[in-house]
Amino acid sequence: MKRIRFYWLTFFIGIIVAVYVLYGARIVDIVAALAAPSPSGAAQSAALFPSPEETQYIMRLYLEPGSRIIYGETRILTSNTSGRGLGELWLTAYPNAFSKSSATPAPADAYYAGFNPGWMEFDEISINGQKAQYTSRGVSVQVLPPADIMPGNQIDLSIKWKALVPRLAYRYGTRDGVYMLGNFYPVLNVLDKDGWHNSYNSVFGDPFCFHCANYLVELNIPEYYDMVATGSYGEPIIEDNGRQTYVIQAENARDFALVLMYDYAKLQTSINKLNVNCYVPNGYKDLAQPILEKAASMLNYFNCSLGTYPYKQFSMAFVPMKGFHGMEYSGMIFLSEDYLKRGGLDQSGEMLLAHEIAHQWWYGVVGNDQLKEPWLDEGLANWSAYKYLEDVEQVKVNITELKEGVSLARELRDMYSKQDYYRTAYSGGEAFWFGLEKELGKEKVNKALRRYLATYRFKIAGTQELLDVIEKEADSNMDAYFYKWFKVNPGN
Ligand SMILES: [Zn+2]
Repeated sequence: MKRIRFYWLTFFIGIIVAVYVLYGARIVDIVAALAAPSPSGAAQSAALFPSPEETQYIMRLYLEPGSRIIYGETRILTSNTSGRGLGELWLTAYPNAFSKSSATPAPADAYYAGFNPGWMEFDEISINGQKAQYTSRGVSVQVLPPADIMPGNQIDLSIKWKALVPRLAYRYGTRDGVYMLGNFYPVLNVLDKDGWHNSYNSVFGDPFCFHCANYLVELNIPEYYDMVATGSYGEPIIEDNGRQTYVIQAENARDFALVLMYDYAKLQTSINKLNVNCYVPNGYKDLAQPILEKAASMLNYFNCSLGTYPYKQFSMAFVPMKGFHGMEYSGMIFLSEDYLKRGGLDQSGEMLLAHEIAHQWWYGVVGNDQLKEPWLDEGLANWSAYKYLEDVEQVKVNITELKEGVSLARELRDMYSKQDYYRTAYSGGEAFWFGLEKELGKEKVNKALRRYLATYRFKIAGTQELLDVIEKEADSNMDAYFYKWFKVNPGN
């Protein structure tokens, strides 16, 4: 007996020595991981960094219109829920997409004053009070903590930054006294079992993958500006120097967007206690009113057919933006002024509005990696918009069959052109759903969508998770149908 014990002891010591030799300091991580208190939902924790329940952005923003610079201090409070030691963190600094004329995603006609750069610079990045090294790589920034961050440890990531807003009629830019600020602040990227989901610059599509977080934002702007932002806020505090400060709070926001405007009107309506706001240049109020009413009706429809809209208000802002008719953010959408001026609500106008609003559910409530699987949110937003047209507007929708098969399993960087992107993510995505409805019937598809929404609310889901939910609801083997769209057996 004693002899056997001795052999076992030698065996275990041998294993520990071997692991130490093979992995060196990593053993410290392994021991720490075993000893660390298990974060909520430990089984899923590897897919949840930064965890939406535990992440808060505290930001102070100061806009200087003369130089078009935003001075920002962002503190990201979270904890290491990744289940492993973190030797690096990655941020997205989207303003750097606009630093060079050769790489900008904005179309030439959006540069109304010729090419004009935009960028983000950092004055200091620190983690838990200690300075961190960092390297900017285009729209991604690698941050190296002074020491590995152990699993379960708190992270206080503090970033002092400034961003130049280009003279640009785009989703990040300024024109005619309007600041369109989407993806304008540094964001902590998502880490899961596949690694970091870092952004890259793409001239089409939405190159983003972010987790939800809570936001507390102090915004200091000149007094003559109005503003609309993701979240809730009261009247500003007026200072005696011609400036004003807003305090803004947002919960479970996928991102935080902002529009500053001058000489605008605010229209408002409400539906089932949800405030629906519309910000429109003075002089266009009459054109915007029916669009606001329509948006309220769409929100109500999606609320009933999909699941509850999670915020207290929804805002739309008409902005001088080229290259997009609409762009979605948490709790708000940007719509191009061109959309307003051309009359707005013909059938394609309704489709566009419903698509942008449906993104509140598909991308907002249930997130996805828009770089790796752009078909997920775009296909669902189109499909939901068609359902609105059919069910509420009584429009008979005919989806023309795609002549050649598309593979939905393609990421943004593998698409050759904007047309290829639209054909895959939008047309392919919506055709997947029309085909599925033919296969399973309306009720089962609705149930699958509601289950998908409930299961992944405020999280990120991928194609595999969606297909699993569909298969469960279908209660039959769906491999043949999935194979048609992905050219691989998704079960393998
Ligand atoms: Zn879209």
